[in-house]
Amino acid sequence: MKIGIVGCMGRMGQMLVSAVLADSGAQLSGGTERAESSAIGQDLGKALGQVTGLTVSADPHALFETSDAIIDFTSPAATRMHAELAAKTNTILVVGTTGLSQDDETVLMQAALTVPVVYAPNFSVGVVLLTALVERAAAALDNSYDIEIVEMHHRHKVDAPSGTALALGKAAAKGRHIALDQVWQKSRDGHTGPRRRGEIGFAALRGGDVVGDHTVIFAGDGERIEIAHKASNRMGFAAGAVRAALWSQDRLPGLYTMVDVLGL
Ligand code: NAD
Repeated sequence: MKIGIVGCMGRMGQMLVSAVLADSGAQLSGGTERAESSAIGQDLGKALGQVTGLTVSADPHALFETSDAIIDFTSPAATRMHAELAAKTNTILVVGTTGLSQDDETVLMQAALTVPVVYAPNFSVGVVLLTALVERAAAALDNSYDIEIVEMHHRHKVDAPSGTALALGKAAAKGRHIALDQVWQKSRDGHTGPRRRGEIGFAALRGGDVVGDHTVIFAGDGERIEIAHKASNRMGFAAGAVRAALWSQDRLPGLYTMVDVLGL
């Protein structure tokens, strides 16, 4: 399967190049970057100390035309453009970009009418498991247990709360048969008054080179349950995304998640 990486010089982009090169079932078809990037024209493996014979390009259309699947960990605006291209060129799309608006997600859904699209805020197997555990815990514990979700990421992250934190909130809300946007409290500041019963709260910490920590706290009277996941490198995300691309081969068009890919 020929896999192309858009945003191939990013933190995740480089991990994805490395993961595709390491997978015997996949062949790297190329990579793109922003037109103003200084990496345009360089070998895709340069920063990894490898020679791939493929150069970083600024032409996504050509990459989509020559790939079976594209993996996209870029920015919401770029992902939107890539989703339109995927539908136009009939190319499988795997999206890890977070911070997508509802409008951006609608564009993904439209592309999924034509091609398989896998969209996940977190491609690590451990986080997929954490999400399932959180839904079960929220269903088992009534709303006298206050749910708070704490996440920490590196200083370069641009969206908050993280896509994974929101997905964990959605899972907790689903366990309680409510919609997250009816009960979420995305941040607190100043005189907030007491906590509303049933609220799902978020706290986002930023600093250093933290790859991604998530803790879901169920705080009751006299006890507290905490379920946590900590990623120590990005390889798990990249390997999961390559696995999703390979899984999508020969699938019907549709919007899939990592739960589908892992068959959970
Ligand atoms: P990054 O800033 O290091 O990389 C993004 C790359 O995309 C940059 O190199 C940038 O130049 C490139 N880019 C932007 N617009 C482009 C365009 N139009 N065409 C081609 N390239 C373009 O960021 P990162 O840490 O690699 O994260 C990228 C995204 O992935 C973020 O939204 C982040 O939250 C998300 N992420 C998701 C997961 C997951 O498992 N789903 C894991 C880690 C990060």
